Amino acid sequence: MKQVRLRFAPSPTGALHIGGIRTALYNYLLARQLGGVFILRIEDTDQTRYVPGAEDYIIRSLNWLGLIPDEGPGFGGEYGPYRQSERKAIYLDYAKQLVERGFAYYAFDTAEEIEAMKQRLAKQESDVVKYDYNTRAEMKNSLSLSPDEVQNLFHQGIAYVIRLKVPEGETVEIHDTVRGHVSFATQELDDKVLIKSDGMPTYHMANVIDDRLMKITHVIRGEEWLSSTAHHVLLYRYFGWENEMPEFSHLPLILKPEGNGKLSKRDGAQFGFPVFPISWQMENGEYIHGFREEGFMPEALLNFLAFLGWNPGTEQEIFSLPELINEFKKENIVKAGARFDYDKAKWFNSHYIQHATADQLKPYIRSSAEKDLINLTDEQITSICSLYQTRSTYVNDLWSQSKYLFTDQIQYNEDFMNKKWKPEHIPAYVELEGEIQMLDDFTAQSLEQVLQNFMQKNKLKPGEVLPSLRVMMSGTPMGPDIYAMMMACGKELLVNRIQRFLAKANS
Ligand code: GLU
Repeated sequence: MKQVRLRFAPSPTGALHIGGIRTALYNYLLARQLGGVFILRIEDTDQTRYVPGAEDYIIRSLNWLGLIPDEGPGFGGEYGPYRQSERKAIYLDYAKQLVERGFAYYAFDTAEEIEAMKQRLAKQESDVVKYDYNTRAEMKNSLSLSPDEVQNLFHQGIAYVIRLKVPEGETVEIHDTVRGHVSFATQELDDKVLIKSDGMPTYHMANVIDDRLMKITHVIRGEEWLSSTAHHVLLYRYFGWENEMPEFSHLPLILKPEGNGKLSKRDGAQFGFPVFPISWQMENGEYIHGFREEGFMPEALLNFLAFLGWNPGTEQEIFSLPELINEFKKENIVKAGARFDYDKAKWFNSHYIQHATADQLKPYIRSSAEKDLINLTDEQITSICSLYQTRSTYVNDLWSQSKYLFTDQIQYNEDFMNKKWKPEHIPAYVELEGEIQMLDDFTAQSLEQVLQNFMQKNKLKPGEVLPSLRVMMSGTPMGPDIYAMMMACGKELLVNRIQRFLAKANS
């Protein structure tokens, strides 16, 4: 049986947007499900849009998410090179074959000449303003010029491109697993450039040739490529490969949170959420946070992304990567645009944090703590998890909420200090601190007893005392169970924190 082969084919033109990661994920899931191969191909033939560092960024992003290619630059494989810029000669060869067989032609027009033609047509109020079978006869190309004239232009070293000769009056049929049957009349299609004047192929040419040579069986990509597919189908036809075309699935657009228009790279800054998987350094040196830096677990991000354009048809929302591999069906990919709901992304992340083991969370907590120059023991990490795992939306929250246990830099919540704290209670708390100090057996039970007595004697309510104690320990009135917090502090630190707070409140 034919081996299943899927490719993720990004262009290294900048940071990979979250839609690109979704494309990678769907390709990966199907490849794994069908026992196939997942390939990374770098489509870097547009030198004007090439951004140094972008390829490395793509690979680091895939590594972070665990979507590891079986073949690709740096991953090995028998169908390389996997960078299109290194395959230039191959495409030119194929394009020349098309010219010889009358399916493509050389064109020598300058940008100005093409512009002039468009102006001319526009003046005639024609609705077809493109380089196509209506206009090619009046342009400077190997169809309109004599063979001698063409040779002459070659000898003079005039720059040329190779264009696809789109047939007149036909319909190109595409079968797409998401959209169903789609057809394009050839009058809508221009004579696409296949080889540019620098000898590099265009996206269309390189994409089709590589899908063929790399034996790609399924093409899963964003909806924006659907209209290009018509040109691709013509290329398959002209090369005589029409019966072995890959199967096409075009994924729905990812929409802005309000559902009005496509989510763009700039929307992250506007809406205040990440749109890149990992941080990206911009030209001005500034870093833009990705989901990783924001505190997402890769498992949670993948689960969220899987649902942007697909659903299992059941109520189940939580899927591990192996479950997605099993359950993913391209028949369940939806046609309608998928709204990017950041609250839903956060919901997935907190779910994954809550259900993670301390071992899974350890690397996140440890690396946050190391930034504050604190080395934690395994025991301390377990205690952080039991206190804060259920109260964290981002992995970074685990440390930011618990660091008071390990550092003395406590910032007392201003709102609390100004509106809730009553200085007249200082003497009572001094007494409380003394009682805690005298406790031989420092347990939750004995602390509870001490607090009960304290509240009764001073006619204070838990709603007042508990937030106050939380502020004394951690700076903030919110937090987990007060006894769990006090036990995590330990007697010495607890007493010390109450003393410090009272000294400051008194000053
Ligand atoms: N290089 C294209 C991109 O950047 C690939 C489209 C495709 O998968 O054919 O998205």
